[in-house]
Amino acid sequence: MAAVFLVTVYEYSPLFYIAVVFVCFLVTSGLVLGWFGWDVPVILRNSEDTESSVKLCQKQMRQVKNPFSLDVGSPAVASLASGVTLTLDCLEDCLLTCYWGCSVQKLHEALQKHVYCFRIKTPQVFEDALQDEYLYRQQYCVKKGDKLEKHCLLPEEAQLTELGPVPRSRYPLVVLLTLAGEEDREIYDIISMISIVHLPDDNYRLSCRILYQYLLLAQGQFHDLKQLFMSANSTGPSLSGPPSGETAEDRALLEKAGLAEEEAAPAEESSKDCIVCQNRAVNWVFLPCRHTCLCDECVTHFQHCPMCRQFVVESFPLCIPKE
Ligand SMILES: [Zn+2]
Ligand SMILES: [Zn+2]
Repeated sequence: MAAVFLVTVYEYSPLFYIAVVFVCFLVTSGLVLGWFGWDVPVILRNSEDTESSVKLCQKQMRQVKNPFSLDVGSPAVASLASGVTLTLDCLEDCLLTCYWGCSVQKLHEALQKHVYCFRIKTPQVFEDALQDEYLYRQQYCVKKGDKLEKHCLLPEEAQLTELGPVPRSRYPLVVLLTLAGEEDREIYDIISMISIVHLPDDNYRLSCRILYQYLLLAQGQFHDLKQLFMSANSTGPSLSGPPSGETAEDRALLEKAGLAEEEAAPAEESSKDCIVCQNRAVNWVFLPCRHTCLCDECVTHFQHCPMCRQFVVESFPLCIPKE
């Protein structure tokens, strides 16, 4: 019996092997399809297909109108002795109050008081909150829509030439901008802006810069304004601004509450090329690194910032992209 079976197998051996191979093929394809489904396996996919599915977490934004704008003009020549030029551009009539040698501790206490007790709407409220812990005070009126360059200088009689050894208990200059009109304070969410300006003196030569800018809201919060780091093409006219070279434009970002102000003109925006395609205007800000270097198209291909390789936790557009 066994002999007959073996002879039969021998006679039909080519057919037998073909059948065995065919069955193996069916089992293997069944397993492969069961594992991956009808999709193409990941390793065989085009890399472009996988990257386009990258979806960055988009930050919820709220647009607010900021009536204040303050910058330091020609910071290279500013110092405690020679004064500082402040560049102002306000949407309403404002009061500019300069506090020279303002106490660091009292200033931060004043910000906390703004949150918990009283809102800093006027210079008087701010001075009460500071408990008059400053060395000299100056006040100017700023007219609505005036692009003003105000040179602020300590008078001779103040006799303030240096602020002692580092670390210091006083900021060289704190600038408070408040709305002059009573009715304007009702319209705007942002009621005042505090800018802390560093000025070099004989003791401490670090060049002049704005250390912090806080926007104070009518509801009692305050926000720390941060700069965006923008990529810009070399022909862009705005590169001459800040000395750091990192930022081409003083676009400010309100990170903490997801508030953003959009002040720059869109025409200026279009001169800035996306660093990847070099073709379209940059529009996307990455957090936490604040690099602004990609257009609406290229942003879908990145999960890490192409400038610093940091992982992008959140992102938001400068202008809402048109569909
Ligand atoms: Zn691009
Ligand atoms: Zn970055």
